[in-house]
Amino acid sequence: MVVICGPAGVGKGSIVSGMLNQRSDFVLSVSATTREPREAETDGVQYYFVSDEQFDRMIEDKQMLEWAWVFGLNRYGTPKKAVDKLQSEGKTVILEIDLDGARQIRETAPDVVQIFIAPPSFEQLESRLRGRGTETDAQLEARLNTAKDELQAQDEFDEVFINDELEKTTQEVLDYILRRKEENERSTGNRKTTN
Ligand code: 5GP
Repeated sequence: MVVICGPAGVGKGSIVSGMLNQRSDFVLSVSATTREPREAETDGVQYYFVSDEQFDRMIEDKQMLEWAWVFGLNRYGTPKKAVDKLQSEGKTVILEIDLDGARQIRETAPDVVQIFIAPPSFEQLESRLRGRGTETDAQLEARLNTAKDELQAQDEFDEVFINDELEKTTQEVLDYILRRKEENERSTGNRKTTN
């Protein structure tokens, strides 16, 4: 499992799709959210779009690996069963989640690779987010405020990548994940042989 965190508009989604295009053994976990779908979004593809009641039930039934209020507006969470299934199939499961969710995963699974994607500057992030044009002014404001907290927390992560050039950053992130996987496999193998 790999956690990818970073402010909205930093290009996490593009980096993840770039990696998925190259690696058939990588999959992105589809989160559940209470936010409304955007025009181009389909239920079960970008997210499972659920009601507040459905989200409450998922928490009560302990179906969430982690969940958080994001931008103080909506709840987002990772359905545990789907992640377990993909992992049992040998997939590298990517969680594209917020800082709160990344912290929860760190508590429950400290060995999970945690990556932070940072923008070259706050000004660039703001202009990218505005240029995307998918948010209202209030939503933009909330995202930029959250981004400030997230950027301050980047040292908590195993590795920080500055997304100054999409293709280059994608390759760097992919290489890093593959290196960590290899190290992990080697140490698991060593443990098995010494047992
Ligand atoms: P958006 O509304 O733009 O699709 O997503 C906003 C943010 O929600 C993303 O930047 C991502 O960090 C966060 N997010 C998406 N899915 C999850 C999830 O399952 N758990 C948590 N904690 N955050 C999520």
